[in-house]
Amino acid sequence: MEETQIEFHWRGCSRWLEKIMSRVVLFPHPGQGHITPMFQLANILHHTMGFAISIVYTQHNGPDISRHPHFNFHLISDPVTANDSPNIPFRGNPIKRFNDHCARPFKLCLDGILSSDTVRCIVTDAMLYSTQAVADELNIPRIVLRTAGVHSFVLYAAVPLLHQTGYLTNMEARAEEVIPEFPPIKLKDIPLFGDNDTNGKVETFSNIFTETKKCSALIFNTFEELESPDLAKLRRQLDMPVFAIGPFNKRFSAAETSMLKEDRSSIDWLDTQALESVLYVSFGSIAAMDKTTFLEVAWGLANSGQPFLWVIRPGSINGAASAASEMLPGEWAEEVSGRSCVVEWAPQEKVLAHSAVGGFWTHSGWNSTMESICEGVPMMCAPYFADQMINARWVSEVLRIAINLERVFTRRDVEEGIRRLMTTAEGAEMQRRVAALKETAAACLGSGGSSYEALESLSMFIMELG
Ligand code: UDP
Repeated sequence: MEETQIEFHWRGCSRWLEKIMSRVVLFPHPGQGHITPMFQLANILHHTMGFAISIVYTQHNGPDISRHPHFNFHLISDPVTANDSPNIPFRGNPIKRFNDHCARPFKLCLDGILSSDTVRCIVTDAMLYSTQAVADELNIPRIVLRTAGVHSFVLYAAVPLLHQTGYLTNMEARAEEVIPEFPPIKLKDIPLFGDNDTNGKVETFSNIFTETKKCSALIFNTFEELESPDLAKLRRQLDMPVFAIGPFNKRFSAAETSMLKEDRSSIDWLDTQALESVLYVSFGSIAAMDKTTFLEVAWGLANSGQPFLWVIRPGSINGAASAASEMLPGEWAEEVSGRSCVVEWAPQEKVLAHSAVGGFWTHSGWNSTMESICEGVPMMCAPYFADQMINARWVSEVLRIAINLERVFTRRDVEEGIRRLMTTAEGAEMQRRVAALKETAAACLGSGGSSYEALESLSMFIMELG
C-alpha cells in the first residue's frame, strides 16, 4: 500500500472506531406506532452508521429485548402506567401525564449511562417534550424523531396561534371549513375537534413545538419528494437541520417490533387469490370502534362483493366483552364465505407487498400510510384520531391516491368506496399515481437519492455533535 493509501485507510478506521465508541441513547414514546419507527431508526443508526445504541423504555408496551441483542436496554419506572399489563395499547391522552412523570427517571437513567459511556446525543420522540429539559440540564444534544408526517406537524405547530386568535372557537358549526393557511385541511381534521379539553390539548401541542424548537435537529420518517412543500415551510420556521431519511420500513421491517403475534395464514390465503383482487382492511394498533360501526364495516365489506382480508385486533370494539370476531352474525359469515379471511394481526408489510392485494382500507396511521405508498397500494381511509384525519385528507386530496370515507360512515359508503377504489377508472388512476410514488420511494434510498444523502448528512451531523 502507498503511504497516502495507508493514511486514508487509517483515517477511515479511526472514524469507524470513533463511531462504535460513540453511543446514541433513544427513548421512544410507548405506543406501537411510535416504537416501530424509533427502533427502525435505532437499526439505521447502528447497522448503517455504526453507532452503539442504548434504548430507554418503560414497562408499558416494553419491547421484547431478546429480539434486539445488538442494543443495550434500560428500563425506567413508569408510575403512570405501572398497573397496566405490558402489551395493551397506550390508550387515552396520557401525553402530559407521561411527560410529567418520565423526566426524572429518564434523567437518572441517562446520568448512569453518561458515567460509563461517551454519548453523542439522545434521540427522543417529539411527544416526549419533557426530555428537552433533561438534555439541557445534562448538557447533551437532543435530536427529535417525529414519527408522523411533516404536513401534520406543520399544522400542529400552528394550533396554539390559531387558538390564541380565536379561530378555533365554535368549530362544530364550521366543521367543513378549509383552514386558510392549510388547504385542503378542514377544521374537523384538527385533533381538537369534538374534544372537551381544548385548552389541555392546545397546551400539549404548544409544549411539543416549543421544546422541539430547542433541540439540535429533527428527523422524519418521510422522503423529500413526498413532502417537499411542507419540508420547505418547516425549514423556514426552524433554525436547525431537518432530516427526511425515510421510508424507514424499506430499510428495516416494522415486523421486528410488532407487539402482537402475526398470523401468517393470511399470506397462505392471499396466495389463493387473483391478482390485485383483495382489499386489505386494518385499523392499526389503537383505533377502536363501537359495535354499530363495526357492523357497518362488516356489512359494507360483505355487500361490496370484493374479496377481503380483515384484521380484527383484540380490543378493537369499545366495551366488548367477547372477541370481536364472535360478534359477526352467522348470515354475514355465510355471505362472505370463500372470499374472506379474518385474522387478529397480520404481517402487514408482507400483505401490502403481495400481488393479490389491490387496495388498503386503513385508519391512516402514518406507518400504515408510508407502508402502503412503499408498496404502491391505493387506499380507502377511515381516520380515527390524532394526525389520522389530516393524513386521510392529504392522501386523498393532495396526493390523490386514496378515497376518504371520513370519520363517520355507513355500510353504503363502504360499499361505494370499495367499488370506486377497486373497480373504476378513478381507482385505476389512484393506483397509477401510487405506483409512481413507490418508484420514487425506492429511488430516494439508493446511492445519490434524497434520503441516502440525508442519511449521510445526519451521520456527519451526529459525529460533529458534542
Ligand atoms: N400492523 C401490523 N399488523 C397488523 C396491523 C398493523 O403489523 O395487523 C403494523 C403496521 O405495519 C404499522 C403499525 O402496525 O407498522 C401501525 O402503525 P400506524 O402508525 O399505522 O398506526 P397506529 O397503530 O399507531 O394507530
